[in-house]
Amino acid sequence: MSQKVIELLNEARTRELTAITQYMAQHYELDAQASGKVGSKIKEIAITEMKHAEQLAERILFLGGAPIYKPSASPKKGEEIPTLIKTDIGLETEAIEMYNDAASVCGAEKDQVSRHLFEELLGDEEGHLNYFQTTLAHVEKLGAAYLSTLAD
Ligand code: FE
Ligand code: FE
Repeated sequence: MSQKVIELLNEARTRELTAITQYMAQHYELDAQASGKVGSKIKEIAITEMKHAEQLAERILFLGGAPIYKPSASPKKGEEIPTLIKTDIGLETEAIEMYNDAASVCGAEKDQVSRHLFEELLGDEEGHLNYFQTTLAHVEKLGAAYLSTLAD
């Protein structure tokens, strides 16, 4: 089995762990500011990323590798809502780019199961990116106060 594939799976897992800690920090803050709907959506996304981190670890273990346990950065805290959403857009955009490349490499390495895993994750990340982009567009048009008008 390819060491290259194990490294890509671990790079993806590091991204997932980083996103998990970032989204958790954000939804705790948003809940405290009564921006409930966005907070609970970000919580839901964080839980999806937790599942991604698990799926990646299972594949790494199956291939005989050792899963990484450390996020690549500490979560940013206290960001204003538009900045916070831009942070998330950055995380999802970079993940999509990396997972697309990783899927191609896995195909070239003849590891279709890992390729399929990356494609599956991509579907979720595209959904997350779309949610963050739509929310940012609303916030830019209507102001951050609009978020508090959304019921939880
Ligand atoms: Fe993910
Ligand atoms: Fe995501």
